[in-house]
Amino acid sequence: MQSKIDISLPKVLVLGTGGTIAGVSTAHPAQAGYRAGALDIAALVAAAPGIEQLANLQAEQIASIDSKDMGAAVWVQLAGRIRDGLQQGDVAGCVVTHGSDTLEETAYFLHCVLPAGKPVVLTAAMRPATALSADGPRNLYDAVQVAACLQARGLGVVCVLHGRIHSACDVSKAQPTAVDAFSSGERGPLGFVGVQGVQITRQLPSQPPGPLPQTPWQPPRGSWPRVELVHSHAGADGAVVRALMQASQSGDPSHKLAGLVVLGTGSGTVHEQLQTALDEAEAAGIRVAYASRVGALSGGDFDGLNAIKIRIRLMLELAAATG
Ligand code: ASP
Repeated sequence: MQSKIDISLPKVLVLGTGGTIAGVSTAHPAQAGYRAGALDIAALVAAAPGIEQLANLQAEQIASIDSKDMGAAVWVQLAGRIRDGLQQGDVAGCVVTHGSDTLEETAYFLHCVLPAGKPVVLTAAMRPATALSADGPRNLYDAVQVAACLQARGLGVVCVLHGRIHSACDVSKAQPTAVDAFSSGERGPLGFVGVQGVQITRQLPSQPPGPLPQTPWQPPRGSWPRVELVHSHAGADGAVVRALMQASQSGDPSHKLAGLVVLGTGSGTVHEQLQTALDEAEAAGIRVAYASRVGALSGGDFDGLNAIKIRIRLMLELAAATG
């Protein structure tokens, strides 16, 4: 869908993938029940008053899902469409509407595989489109402001929610129901957006853990390397790791394990029995990376990334290594 064109305005590509921002209540609008991904992206654009005065919008539907069901197939589709779109000289930036549950995963994936040039902005909502005081229209409006903004270039992929501009590297969903559900932890947001326009207050320090070796990025020719998350906790005895190893050695290629990301306690410490199993996995050629279940750790190979993003990074690195 292409809105009426005003040649004085920048052009922004708006891609819909579903989520609560496109959700429709199945009960009274003040109650919780709703179906995510029910409305198409044209309806979301139409529900954001004044958005057509910010940019000429080209709206396209990529998927219509609850983002709890997100996976690599949609990531690859998004990456391809965004790269093609941004290569057009007249396109200033791109907005992706997404569910909030896995927003940080899609954002970080795109951050790793796309060049950090024109703005790529993900947004979401905590309330469905039909709710009282729905937050989606405002978030979408703000996301378009950022996508059309020259100052937002070179920041990598960002997420715009509740008036804040977060780096894909730092952001995580930190609260299950509040409208202000996203946080960039101690690093804080990259800036703010609202009636005052766009304000960038800090730059991305570096791109942890550095650009992918393969540019331009290509998806794996076969299946993605399997990287699983395991937790350390009271009584963690390594049985989960051994079960994964057993499945991996069963000969079924879909169970072949390539990596493990460990959500350790506190500063990344691991129960001694789980550690024994992890050492066995590493000796068998499985890549093991350590994170914390408390939040992102500073320093090391994955500086500032939480476990879920380290998993994505490992998938990308292992896929690049195997071709
Ligand atoms: N389950 C929804 C989703 O991630 C939640 C949301 O969008 O807020 O698609």
